[in-house]
Amino acid sequence: MDFEIAINLAYIVASVLFIFGIKMLGKAETARKGNLISAVGMLLAVVATLFDRQILELGSPFAWGMLAGGLFLGTIAGVAAAKFVKMTSMPEMVALLNGFGGAASLLVAWAEFHYDGISNVNPDLFNKCAIVAAVLIGGVTFTGSLYAWGKLSGKISGKAKVFSGQKALNAIIALVSLASAVAFVLLGQHQAAYVSLGVAIVFSLILGFAAVMPIGGGDMPVVISLLNSLSGLAACAAGFVILNNVLIVAGCLVGASGVILTVIMCKSMNRTLGNVLFSGFGAAASSSANKVEGEMKPISVDDAYYALEAAQSVVFIPGYGMAVAQAQHAVKELAELLENNGAEVAFAIHPVAGRMPGHMNVLLAEADVPYEQLKEMEEANRILETADVAIVIGANDVVNPAAAEDKGSPIYGMPIIEAFKAKTVFALKRGKGAGFSGLENGLFFRPNTRMIYGDAKATINSLVATFKEK
Ligand code: NDP
Repeated sequence: MDFEIAINLAYIVASVLFIFGIKMLGKAETARKGNLISAVGMLLAVVATLFDRQILELGSPFAWGMLAGGLFLGTIAGVAAAKFVKMTSMPEMVALLNGFGGAASLLVAWAEFHYDGISNVNPDLFNKCAIVAAVLIGGVTFTGSLYAWGKLSGKISGKAKVFSGQKALNAIIALVSLASAVAFVLLGQHQAAYVSLGVAIVFSLILGFAAVMPIGGGDMPVVISLLNSLSGLAACAAGFVILNNVLIVAGCLVGASGVILTVIMCKSMNRTLGNVLFSGFGAAASSSANKVEGEMKPISVDDAYYALEAAQSVVFIPGYGMAVAQAQHAVKELAELLENNGAEVAFAIHPVAGRMPGHMNVLLAEADVPYEQLKEMEEANRILETADVAIVIGANDVVNPAAAEDKGSPIYGMPIIEAFKAKTVFALKRGKGAGFSGLENGLFFRPNTRMIYGDAKATINSLVATFKEK
């Protein structure tokens, strides 16, 4: 078979494997296989590229050393991350991976132009557009993702940082990036174009920080999915730079799926993308927003047991705290005990509960909670109207009634799981900690709410033990 046909065939097979892999990631049961299939596709693409670019034939010890070094370091970092990163830190890791994807695309495009200069090649207009697109999008993605990583990991405050004149300053940074990009494309002389590219790189890196800074912690789900999409678009542009079909296809797939996820996340927060990016939401709560009157009333596990024992309908509302406590298996056991006791059990899933899209679905699927018991927000809210008990397990922002009732609240307008509608609410949390948005939650002060303090897993295990004893 002709060499070129074989390489293109390998690229097509790799692309098909990516598409099937992504499709399988859509369901918890097939997700592992989907991941494996995509990884095989990536391996095939890498091997085909090594042959395609005659990299293996270079024979220079430097080239071989670079390859072996990259492979070694990448493998160590990948294995260590897979082994040691906690499930609750996954969103931060996703942010970092997005960022490194953007940085890689920037470096590929920059290197291509650098070597064009060394080998006296004058890139055509299309090639220059692809180079500068990879640089701009890659740069913004890199620093924007680093900032998002800082917010998600708590190293930087989750609050939106806004100051007067910020929008104008950001517009100037964006304009300088674009102007230097245009200059790069139009300038024929290599040295002058190189200077413009340098300016574009520096300003795109600044723009990434500047764009994410005014976005509040509560809007991070949208930012992460948008950065994910941008990392794909940067890779796609890099694919055009080095004319590699599989990189173009893979970049498009990531870019398109990221856009779809961004739209879903915006809908779940009831916000437009423009509003998330430019409104500085979550910078400061209005005076009414963070003040809640009343007191939180605690209840013992024993007393909670009696209410649960008599309940005909129980709705579990999991949130980030369930992920921290790794309470999903204990929750499944309690749900089974309640069902055996004659209660109807449902799980109310908020799309932005936890720290990554689908976080609660993944945890509950891992614990084998039947899929039919998982209810999306609208259906869950209907069930809650007649539910005897709602058990809030480490959820906070996604059950905060201020989102529906307090116009001054930074989360006003975000659809929530209406736990407060249940006859009795048990809220499981360790103490008086606020939600990710930093807001106080009026639900915990309502007359029908009782607090069960402690680690969620320990509390649920105590409830399970009490059920088994009595
Ligand atoms: P929140 O982060 O609002 O609240 C979690 C609560 O869990 C805290 O109040 C904490 O209170 C409690 N908690 C923590 N550890 C434990 C534990 N071991 N046992 C019991 N309770 C515990 O969670 P939600 O799921 O309600 O909301 C998610 C938030 O994260 C939203 O604001 C969303 O916008 C944001 N976000 C979501 C992303 C996504 O893609 N899903 C991505 C990025 C951000 P205490 O300290 O008192 O225990």
